[in-house]
Amino acid sequence: MGKRYSELFRGVVEAVKERQGLIIINTGNGKGKTTAALGLGMRAWGQGFKVLVLQFIKGNWKYGELQAAARMGEDFVIRQLGEGFVRHAKDEALADHKDAAEDALLDARKEMMSGKWDMIILDEINYAIKFGLVSTEAVLALLEAKPQSLHLVLTGRDAQQAIIDQADLVTEMCVVKHPYKKGIPAQQGIEF
Ligand code: ATP
Ligand code: MG
Repeated sequence: MGKRYSELFRGVVEAVKERQGLIIINTGNGKGKTTAALGLGMRAWGQGFKVLVLQFIKGNWKYGELQAAARMGEDFVIRQLGEGFVRHAKDEALADHKDAAEDALLDARKEMMSGKWDMIILDEINYAIKFGLVSTEAVLALLEAKPQSLHLVLTGRDAQQAIIDQADLVTEMCVVKHPYKKGIPAQQGIEF
């Protein structure tokens, strides 16, 4: 009898230890969405996790985090997807951007299913949805396919309600003050 109980107890402890991969969203108009995602990535990396950051908007990555990732080594990788997308493509360029965005989503899915990563950060994916580069449905399908143990982080303004509905942790950054308003130029180590 005692033995059976201890076996049962061990089963419970193992269940608790099993990782529950979360869907996390950082959205809102205030600064800090990408910064907070990188902070999570650093914390996870410190725990021995393998972290992949995929960039959906061209040129969003700044010198500071690229240099940090290069020093952190192969368990913290930052990559631009496809061609990357500009923030305000002209109409005629939009079709190309959409093709690139679809490829980017396929890439993201491939990495997600590879089992290589413990955390994947899809930076600015909310913006890519809002801009019409990728559909909400395609991103919902991606969330649906997420391996149980993977932590998936989505950043960008204007997160869609349907995506928020599927998330476990959603934080909205709100602007109280931004130095930009006072005309203070971008500061090294803060903005890049
Ligand atoms: P960060 O990368 O600093 O965490 P973010 O991811 O929250 O910023 P994005 O929407 O990706 O913000 O915008 C990127 C750039 O826009 C950053 O250089 C950031 O400082 C700037 N920015 C963010 N919020 C504001 C704001 N409310 N007013 C002016 N500039 C802003
Ligand atoms: Mg950002």
